[in-house]
Amino acid sequence: MTKFFNRFSFYLATILLASCASEEADNQIDLGTEIQTQKFSLPSGNDVLYNTLIGWGYKPDQIEDLGEFYLVAGDIIFDKSKIYSDPTLSRIDGNIVTKEIVNVWIHPGMNSSWISASNDALKRWNNELEKISLQTVSNRQIADIEILYDSLETDPTFDRLPLPDSAFGYARFPTVDGSPGIKIWVNPRFDVCNGPIRQSQRIANVQHELGHNLGFHHTNDFSGFQVEGTPEFDGESVMRSGNACFLDDFSSGDILGIKIIYGADTAGNLLTKYDVPRSTGIPNGFRKYSNVHVIGINGPNLNNVFNSVLNWWGNSNNPNGLHQFTLETNNGTPRSYTNIVDFASYQLHQANPEITINASSGFSNLSGNYWINIDGDNLVLVEKSGTHALYFSNSSEAPSN
Ligand SMILES: [Zn+2]
Repeated sequence: MTKFFNRFSFYLATILLASCASEEADNQIDLGTEIQTQKFSLPSGNDVLYNTLIGWGYKPDQIEDLGEFYLVAGDIIFDKSKIYSDPTLSRIDGNIVTKEIVNVWIHPGMNSSWISASNDALKRWNNELEKISLQTVSNRQIADIEILYDSLETDPTFDRLPLPDSAFGYARFPTVDGSPGIKIWVNPRFDVCNGPIRQSQRIANVQHELGHNLGFHHTNDFSGFQVEGTPEFDGESVMRSGNACFLDDFSSGDILGIKIIYGADTAGNLLTKYDVPRSTGIPNGFRKYSNVHVIGINGPNLNNVFNSVLNWWGNSNNPNGLHQFTLETNNGTPRSYTNIVDFASYQLHQANPEITINASSGFSNLSGNYWINIDGDNLVLVEKSGTHALYFSNSSEAPSN
């Protein structure tokens, strides 16, 4: 059930043209080059577009008047002759991916930085996707998506290759049969970011291109269809164009768009799915997990958690035997080690084991009342309203639906 719509006939021409294009390049400076000959010094600050930009939350000092255009936040162009209404954050292609398991082949001829960035980007997507999942394969013949350097492409039928030096990546969109876009070409020569390319930029740009493979258009362009329910503006979106040097990770608005398009239809079934509340206590044991997958909507972003431990040795004489429930982060945010026990009350020994995490943990949206259960070798905390679950495992792949 895809929820997208198009409210403004004004955009129709753009949308129809854009949906014919099955690919796009991502340049750091793409739109900017068009306006270099268009500099005028017209008065600013008193027209509809300017007021609209202010209404979206831009500050006056972020809006530069270039005559026929405004240059906003350094890299977004608004044409004064056009009407910009309600630029909802997420924009989706007419085709979305219905293939539930998407095989991704990462070209082994890329260097370890790019291979690692590709794997990390896939992991970020899998942390949010529910209806589909991305899995890496070593057999190119069964790949649905290939990630490779532009210079490693041997099929001459692909145009616009090699990429210009100003383009970080280039991707294909999904096809009408529900398959993802088949390629991501990255440009290892990209070098316009004021200093050497950082690994975080490689990851975020592969993440961005994967968004195109799965049907997401640029949030700051007007191709594709608006995703109903996403915020009106989000400068932090990983799907912004012309922003390759500054992309970071999904914004909360990106995640909302992903949940609307690729989320589970109903979150309530998480209670049933994970069989909570559990009829007995949690068995004693030391449990260690390399991954935590956040399932459902409105859950915390735990992408920076790489190690978790539940160290539980309780009995009727010692009902408070949760010695450790730690989340370890790779960036020290909100801290390197957080012992959830310090921010929670719990009952794990008897039937209906549960844990209530308060708002002081420092992880936004982590606070809540959770049922807790063991699922095979894995640990799951299901928010009692059923909106989301935290699934601790030693697999980089999210649990299947
Ligand atoms: Zn793009």
